[in-house]
Amino acid sequence: MSSGSETIRAVEVPAPGEPFELVERPLPDPGRGEVRVGVEACGVCHSDANTVDGTYPGISYPRVPGHEVVGRVEAVGPGVDAWSVGDRVGAGWHAGHCFTCEPCRRGEFQQCVDADIHGVTVDGGYAEATLVNAEVLAAVPEELDAVDAAPLLCAGVTTYNALRHTDARPGDLVAVQGVGGLGHLGLQYARAGGFETVAVSTSPEKEAAARGFGADHFVDASSEDPGEALQKLGGADVVLATAPSADAITGIVAGLGTDGEVAVVGVPDEPVEVPAGHLVGTRSAVRGWASGHGRDSQDTLEFSALRGITPEVETFPLAEAAAAYERMATGEVRFRSVVVP
Ligand SMILES: [Zn+2]
Ligand SMILES: [Zn+2]
Repeated sequence: MSSGSETIRAVEVPAPGEPFELVERPLPDPGRGEVRVGVEACGVCHSDANTVDGTYPGISYPRVPGHEVVGRVEAVGPGVDAWSVGDRVGAGWHAGHCFTCEPCRRGEFQQCVDADIHGVTVDGGYAEATLVNAEVLAAVPEELDAVDAAPLLCAGVTTYNALRHTDARPGDLVAVQGVGGLGHLGLQYARAGGFETVAVSTSPEKEAAARGFGADHFVDASSEDPGEALQKLGGADVVLATAPSADAITGIVAGLGTDGEVAVVGVPDEPVEVPAGHLVGTRSAVRGWASGHGRDSQDTLEFSALRGITPEVETFPLAEAAAAYERMATGEVRFRSVVVP
């Protein structure tokens, strides 16, 4: 996309709280261990708010947001053997690790205490091209469209990876709380994973869509208590909490069965209160899960291609990134915004 031109177009956040700005930037040259990805699509995620609002500590501005990047390798820096020009690749939240901290020494690169984050600590994918560390890339299967693949690099890997790291087995009751950008993918993965799948939403008008994504049951949390509703179904083995609402998480813990867990993937701004008596009585837990590393992303893409799982998206040209972000931030988008440079 950017080949033949010495500059690229990119969308920057000039400073915390300031509106997006479409700018021209020099075509970036990949350094040692990096590739330049010509961006074909970049998803818009709730976590972009870290950069937009400046809530993540120590961000330097201007910063190009975006951590759901899909494109092709345009140029390869020194020391990169595993990827070649033309390779179809994706990059997600995880942008690099230090290889030397305690989690890294144990191979837990996703838990690196000094990890980089695309679109937050380094520039991301709201641009015609971006630099990516080779070790965090995921190969994108040819059968996935770039626009469909982009949201799988965060919303997809987060829900898929969280679910596959629970103890749930086929047939177990898995509830997905929230039918939005993450939730509509979580429902598809839960269904494809063989779970009895429940959608929990405060928007009854989403029932038909939720059932289309694979929900066997729909709980309208605006008119019934979600904890009681899940107990009527036998008690949830897993609740995948995708809606960033502390009250919603508090209210659904009572729906857990024995050894159940709430896996929190949508992060509320406020602390979450939990009814400890129910946790103790059922030996259940509330835990968190954050996306994954490059190979986790590739697993997500491969499984999605295998089972025909795609997000439902609204696409926006790069120049309309602000509108794409606004649709996401207000919860109006059905179900994920994607910008296309
Ligand atoms: Zn994200
Ligand atoms: Zn590290």
